[in-house]
Amino acid sequence: MLCILAFLCLPYWIDRVKIRIDHIKNKPYELIVCEPVETFPVLMRLQADGECTFRGPVQAEIAVEREFDHLKVSGRVQVPIELACGRCLTSYQSAVDSTFRIILRKESARQPEVVEDETELCDDDLISSTYSGDEIDLTHEIEEQVAMEIPFKPLCDDDCKGLCPSCGADLNSNSCSCSKEPINLKFGALKDFKITR
Ligand SMILES: [Zn+2]
Ligand SMILES: [Zn+2]
Repeated sequence: MLCILAFLCLPYWIDRVKIRIDHIKNKPYELIVCEPVETFPVLMRLQADGECTFRGPVQAEIAVEREFDHLKVSGRVQVPIELACGRCLTSYQSAVDSTFRIILRKESARQPEVVEDETELCDDDLISSTYSGDEIDLTHEIEEQVAMEIPFKPLCDDDCKGLCPSCGADLNSNSCSCSKEPINLKFGALKDFKITR
């Protein structure tokens, strides 16, 4: 029964991230989004691949306004996540909290390669995209923003000591008696080599 209910609700969730163009008048159109991760296919794939675990809904505050011949979307997106440290393998809580700006141009019959005026808009945090029809769907923009903020090599702490390569002890909470000598020996050998020249 619950499954059927969830299925029936799904189109409603997805529609929440769409904005009708005619709703965007002279002042910014504001939208609050609070959507389960299931709404975002890219994020579901990241989670299935073990990149991270989402610990709550994706929340976003978005403002869309007209600017010259395009739409400017400004937003902030937040979602709690759980990551596994790349050094000590411990799971830890983190969060994505990112602001973004996107310029949306109406898709026209124009050839796609005629985009040379695009360069003048290229800020670091500014993405350029297109829309067509009478509404814009921000599902993909939101999920891309979140995906970009998920660290490729997560660290529970910048100073995480990691695991001992010999015995596997977590060096953040334990010490071990394994020798760290091999690294020093290598440097020693190199020094001798230079001296004998
Ligand atoms: Zn760690
Ligand atoms: Zn050890």
